[in-house]
Amino acid sequence: MKVTVIGLGSMGSVLAAVLLRGGYEVTVWNRTPEKADALVAQGATRADTVASALAASPVAIVCVFDTATAVELLEPVEAGKTVINLTTGSPEDARSLAAWAAERGVAYLDGAIMAVPEAIGTPAAFVIYSGSRQVFDEHRAALDAFGGSHFLGTDAGVAEFHDLGLLSAGYATLGGFLYSVALVETAGVKAGDFLPLATTWLTGMVAFLADIAREIDAGDYSNGASSVAINQVALGTILRDSAAAGVPADMLVPFKDLLDRRADDGHAHSSASGIIEVLRHRIATA
Ligand code: NDP
Repeated sequence: MKVTVIGLGSMGSVLAAVLLRGGYEVTVWNRTPEKADALVAQGATRADTVASALAASPVAIVCVFDTATAVELLEPVEAGKTVINLTTGSPEDARSLAAWAAERGVAYLDGAIMAVPEAIGTPAAFVIYSGSRQVFDEHRAALDAFGGSHFLGTDAGVAEFHDLGLLSAGYATLGGFLYSVALVETAGVKAGDFLPLATTWLTGMVAFLADIAREIDAGDYSNGASSVAINQVALGTILRDSAAAGVPADMLVPFKDLLDRRADDGHAHSSASGIIEVLRHRIATA
């Protein structure tokens, strides 16, 4: 029931508070010590040094600004300890930290938090993990206090790859929504009035992703509901008409380019999901 939390920024302080509420004996350390005051008032123990914080508990949760900081702070960790690193980093960062931990005899679990601090401890939050399955299983109860917990594989980099993918999908959706609002505003429509239809539309799009994923995994693009050719026409229209309305759809140009490439490769009448093959080719030849 003893846990150390290293890093008490917006996220780390909430993680520590949730653990305290869950009955854990929490030791905390932060570069700026005053940030621990509120947690100490709630029952946390403030460590004077990062080394004593790491020594105080069998498991340390690290949530700091970046991986370089996490690596520096973890230097004093002793063999036999467990580190759960919830600092966002690259997949390679996670893999090299896992290798570093293994050399030290330290068990390592990498995690990426898919929530804002305010959502931690609510059903809206989830955290994705990869690395040591044993650490995940042993500390599952503590991890579940943060939100949904998902173990994705023993390759420590896998959670960070998911983080990149999920954030990319999120940014593309956000960018698409902002662009569409800019477009309907030219007809005097407010964002809030556009929202209900946008929500219904995007919900349908999300349901359609199941078909897309099935086609991709089967490598069979022959029976899709939406062909490359039909999407070339649709996107061509969007690009032309939105430019005419004074709202250039720049962010859709790369997608149109992928469709054109797929059509040029002789697949105009197969499912648009097949543009994954163009992306794979780009990755393979990069
Ligand atoms: P903050 O900027 O609020 O906190 C950063 C933390 O890192 C502080 O504890 C800070 O200490 C510490 N720190 C920075 N540099 C150093 C250093 N050189 N030596 C020691 N400690 C240092 O960031 P967040 O808490 O928001 O983010 C922490 C991690 O959580 C990041 O990896 C972020 O990507 C991830 N995350 C954050 C989300 C969010 O919405 N906030 C959402 C999902 C993930 P000090 O207080 O002394 O400055």
